[in-house]
Amino acid sequence: MILLPPFPCFSADSISLAKRFLTNKIYEQLVHLKTGYGFTLHDALRSGIENPDSSIGIYAGDPESYDLFSAIFKPVIEKYHATETTSCHMKSDLSPVDFPDPDPAHEFILSTRIRVARNLTNFPFMPLISSADRKKVEEIITQLLENIESPFKGYYKSVKDCLGFTDQEQLARPIPSRSCFRKGDRFQESAGINRDWPDCRGVFESIDHKFSVWINEEDHIRVISIDRNGDIASVFNRLAKALDIIEKTLDCKQIDFAWKDDLGYLTACPSNLGTGMRAGVHIRLPKFFKQKEILENEAKKLKLQIRGTQGEKTEVESAVFDISNSQRLGLTERECCNILYNGVCKIIKLERQL
Ligand code: ADP
Ligand code: MG
Repeated sequence: MILLPPFPCFSADSISLAKRFLTNKIYEQLVHLKTGYGFTLHDALRSGIENPDSSIGIYAGDPESYDLFSAIFKPVIEKYHATETTSCHMKSDLSPVDFPDPDPAHEFILSTRIRVARNLTNFPFMPLISSADRKKVEEIITQLLENIESPFKGYYKSVKDCLGFTDQEQLARPIPSRSCFRKGDRFQESAGINRDWPDCRGVFESIDHKFSVWINEEDHIRVISIDRNGDIASVFNRLAKALDIIEKTLDCKQIDFAWKDDLGYLTACPSNLGTGMRAGVHIRLPKFFKQKEILENEAKKLKLQIRGTQGEKTEVESAVFDISNSQRLGLTERECCNILYNGVCKIIKLERQL
């Protein structure tokens, strides 16, 4: 008889999707498996087990994790993105959008930020990557960005060089730029994403600060377009142009982003699969601030999610909400952007009426 390691010990108050879908049968089927890079089911579940308030509770260590452990990833992904993956054929659409600024008088929106998460094939993801591979990823991306043309031209700052501190507390501070690149939170810590921090982490930022690339944060890269207004269309169109340049340059070197037709771009956290796109605004809503449940309900109907002012799992400060598309899989980048635009228009209208 083969002895199984004990069933993962999720605490009674754990709310994660991984806990919800991990049956004994799935556990027995997956517990002895290992990807080519050596990632196991226990590695995937560690963050969810150590953090009962984790909503997803599972990370991928490499592209193969999604195939090998699909018995658990599939139901989690389908529930999170409200999408059937069997019938899903992901298509990218980054063609330009054209709609007016939803807040032309700058009454509500402080900034718009649209990012995509991308990982290079042939490297493990951040929960598993070795320090040598992390360095290679940093080199590939910084070399590419060194030659990028205006308006994206800019500079790379490594977290290590910027900070130069040794104390862990100080290392957790954002690097001194507008990017707010920080050491990962406790969910990412448990997943192994913070290993060797701050080695080979850094931010490339354009001279005008409107385009940046985070290297080796939660994914190999986060490509970001940002502006201090509500002009969602121009923020999206800028990101699309930059991504096109990055993809073509990588293509010349025969380097691809990790991709599967049914799951789209592959990412460390399943919540980012598909487009990898989070299109969001920082928006000040003083009336909704006093009635947050109403905003939560409206956001859900509009397929939007709400985060705190400093990012995921932080508090809303001075009534500034981070509102963004919640679904990234089963729709195109353009559709993510449209969801944000339509949702923000509706929320501004409701805030005025409250
Ligand atoms: P991501 O989905 O990119 O991982 P996080 O919630 O981790 O986003 O936040 C990353 C950082 O980006 C945080 O410092 C957050 O305050 C900042 N941020 C998010 N949205 C906006 C926005 N619309 N404008 C300015 N900064 C933003
Ligand atoms: Mg984040």
